[in-house]
Amino acid sequence: MNINKKESVVIAVREAPFRNTGMQGINDIERSVLEFSRECPKAVVVDGTVYSFDHSFDSKVSQEQLYRTLIHPLVLKALAGYDCTAMAYGQTGTGKSYSMGMTAERMSEEHVGIVPRCLKDILKYMNINDQKENHAAMGEVFASFIEVYNEKAYDLLAVDVNEPLTSRTHPRFTGGTCMPMKSQRDLLQILMLGTKNRHVRATNMNNNSSRSHAIVTIHIQQGFQHSRLNIIDLAGSESIRRTGNEGIARAEGVFINMGLMGINKVMASLSAGRSLIPYPSFNSQCSLTLLACISPHASDLNETLSTIRFAKNAKQMKITPQLSQQ
Ligand code: ADP
Ligand code: MG
Repeated sequence: MNINKKESVVIAVREAPFRNTGMQGINDIERSVLEFSRECPKAVVVDGTVYSFDHSFDSKVSQEQLYRTLIHPLVLKALAGYDCTAMAYGQTGTGKSYSMGMTAERMSEEHVGIVPRCLKDILKYMNINDQKENHAAMGEVFASFIEVYNEKAYDLLAVDVNEPLTSRTHPRFTGGTCMPMKSQRDLLQILMLGTKNRHVRATNMNNNSSRSHAIVTIHIQQGFQHSRLNIIDLAGSESIRRTGNEGIARAEGVFINMGLMGINKVMASLSAGRSLIPYPSFNSQCSLTLLACISPHASDLNETLSTIRFAKNAKQMKITPQLSQQ
């Protein structure tokens, strides 16, 4: 497969549906600040200024179209042995979790998000199914589900979800419990357990799970080759921003606690062309796809512009995919 440098960071924006709050008065009809045009399919116009990305999706894009265009290429890279990360960033309520498909509910096909669609294709390509013996299977697939809150990582599939993952509990941080995946049912089970544990943990520890980052990793084992596809549903950008420096530290903590670097530092160093970071899945050797979710509402304009800036910065990263070593 021809995987070149240019393709290794892909940035897209997705417009959230307009919320009909019923609050708008006759003189106070909230207008949309976003415009999309057929002539420039990669651009979004935010309050009159044009911003171009690799892809720009308006609110009418289907989950299937989004997956096919943006994520399916990443699945092919992961199957070819490259570590890959898909990450949703944006204000609360803009469709990050909906897009990533981390919710544990059964839903109609059209609403199914990225995680189940990735697993479906990976199992299909690897010839894995849950029909008795899998003689034809070309490898094994596992998944893990972790949460990062306040600079600590928690294994959502562990017995004690209140115990943060540390280098003491995991000498070399492995990313949490890995469960074998042979069908969508296996995935639904870990999403249900993880979601339940996320609530239990938040309640027990008196913290807010909407401020935490959720990470599902699909591990693909083919012979000696082990590649990972990380799907990250970040906390609402406003809670990261609103807390100022502490918030930035918290966002950085996501990656520090995974053995990664702070997101801002990662972006700064990668955009300076330096290669760093010991963790294999978010380094200069992986592919990153960022989905920036944005609100069309005028009242959200500042947050939307901040998300657009974040997405523009992310595009500056220089990363070169290389085959995973293990
Ligand atoms: P976030 O994770 O960014 O806070 P959610 O994914 O929870 O946002 O989305 C907020 C609500 O809007 C949810 O009820 C979700 O199902 C719905 N939603 C978001 N995007 C879409 C979409 N493109 N089509 C239909 N419903 C959507
Ligand atoms: Mg969410």
